Amino acid sequence: MVQTIQKKILMGNEAIGRGLVEAGCALVSSYPGTPASEILESVVAFAGDAKVPVHIEWSINEKVAYEVALGHSYTGKRSAVAMKQVGLNVASDPFMRSAYIGVTGGLVVVAADDPGPHSSQTDQDSRAFAQFARIPVFDPSNPVEAKEMTGRAFELSERYEIPVMVRPTTRVCHARQGVSLEEPRKIEREARFKKDPSRWVATPQFIPALHRRLNDKIDEIAGLEEMYPCRIAGSGSSSRCIVSSGVACANVYEILEDRGFLEEVDLFKVDLPYPLNRNFIEMLNAGYDRILVVEETYPVIETQLMNRAARGRLSKDVPDYGELTPEVIGKVLEAFLDVPGEPEDDTKGAGGVRPSLCPGCPHRAAFYAISTAFPKGIFPSDIGCYTLGMNFGGVDTCHCMGACISQGAGLYHAHAADGPDSPTIVVTIGDSTFFHAGIPGLVNAVFTGARFILVILDNATTAMTGNQPTPQVGLMADGTPGNAVYIPDLVRASGVRFLEECDPYDLDAFISLLKEADRFCRSDGGGVAVIISKHPCVMDREVLKTQKRYRVVVTGECTGCRICIKRFECPALVFDEETEKVSVDQTICIGCGVCGAVCPVGAIDVRKIGGAA
Ligand code: SF4
Ligand code: SF4
Repeated sequence: MVQTIQKKILMGNEAIGRGLVEAGCALVSSYPGTPASEILESVVAFAGDAKVPVHIEWSINEKVAYEVALGHSYTGKRSAVAMKQVGLNVASDPFMRSAYIGVTGGLVVVAADDPGPHSSQTDQDSRAFAQFARIPVFDPSNPVEAKEMTGRAFELSERYEIPVMVRPTTRVCHARQGVSLEEPRKIEREARFKKDPSRWVATPQFIPALHRRLNDKIDEIAGLEEMYPCRIAGSGSSSRCIVSSGVACANVYEILEDRGFLEEVDLFKVDLPYPLNRNFIEMLNAGYDRILVVEETYPVIETQLMNRAARGRLSKDVPDYGELTPEVIGKVLEAFLDVPGEPEDDTKGAGGVRPSLCPGCPHRAAFYAISTAFPKGIFPSDIGCYTLGMNFGGVDTCHCMGACISQGAGLYHAHAADGPDSPTIVVTIGDSTFFHAGIPGLVNAVFTGARFILVILDNATTAMTGNQPTPQVGLMADGTPGNAVYIPDLVRASGVRFLEECDPYDLDAFISLLKEADRFCRSDGGGVAVIISKHPCVMDREVLKTQKRYRVVVTGECTGCRICIKRFECPALVFDEETEKVSVDQTICIGCGVCGAVCPVGAIDVRKIGGAA
């Protein structure tokens, strides 16, 4: 019998991390990305507290993370990989094939979705990806279930030798709930890789048999009694029902309860949306006249019902995009249950302040230098805090991790074909993103003769997702030393012949280096020029203690032109509507002093007061 040792308030991601440790998982790999970033960090904490040996790594991207976990599971040991939903796109190659080849030790894939989205490039549903790959997927509705389903996923994975996905959404990842903690399981398995070329090396001739076996597994799982969805509302005698999963189900239940409809309609909660239980599908189609499916974000359950009368995302009775907030679900339920709508709450939806780079952020200085050096330039960029450079003209494109370098090459080839007067192209990419997916794009650009400036924004961290270390920092996820891999070495090895480093706080030096790089690009035999913009993230308090610090004030010379705000957008520079002048908010100014160079009339006075010489 499992013994509860403690109850603790945990965030959904922490509950998943705890679930992995309790399940005896021996390896967890991940690449940071909201809303999944805290999963690996909590594995570090829980495994450390319980003194259980787990190999924990921030891999350089999700494909690598997936393959590390997959190889580990081949030895019979339990493994897990965690990522955000667009990370699954990066890992899709090993993900798809692993369904066919299967696993030995349980492999749990945590893909955290971001319906809405709140901080992602797409609104995609990883459950649909699991269905595409023919991989079973659990859909937790709260942190308690997220932990419990992580354990169930391992059991299912080992029973059928198939990877199993757990798909939390942002609202589950970041919700907090009291969660029962149990002793971590001690699974003592020696690594034993059993050679079987027909499986592990499976060439095309073996694939039909593996495909048939995969289909058999999915059929068997679809028939499992323990996966039959539970009725959590209604008496079972209604002619209409609602089928739901994940956090949408929790919202449906609450709304029915609030409005006194719990007895009016049957509500079924689906834990395993794919494969949907076969007997459940038959029961629904035979037993109900009206069926409503409420799920995020694609019609995964709805399509499996194969019932054209069912209502949901596909029929557009539920909006076919975006997050299913309680407000959205409330309206859907009113229509389905034929009840009058509640009055609109018009206090909601007030606009917020647009996000901006932090005061003193070195990326701001780099973008300012780039747009000053090349006012007519084209600026492809990438995913990270630095995407916010778009606010002041430093970012023209942003697509997916690492795309900026190849997009820069594509833009160059298009313009170069029109003649020699092509605009300067300055590509910006963060250090972590460069490791993640920038290197192949750089090799390709060099190889194909593209000419542009690549600025690698090296702030020595993965800042946007919570300051995880990059390979250059040389620290593993648990703080133990790793073998540092240096960006300049990788750049040189890619065949780049112009490589310089510069601190962007030194605007004059940075601008003149950009111009030198442009001359190299345009010279005979020129190519890709790389500048490493090197200044640590100022969110690190230790950095603030050591860097030079200035007292910055705006003098009476200020004309109120707002150039500093439009072109530099430091949150510490504030326009006063009454005086029609700018002032410095000293409570958030970190005294970097860079804004002093921005004011055309010299009204920003900068005096050194501390830090390094
Ligand atoms: S500080 Fe300078 S740039 Fe900013 S509003 Fe005043 S005059 Fe314009
Ligand atoms: S010195 Fe200027 S740029 Fe730096 S944080 Fe203060 S106001 Fe912002």
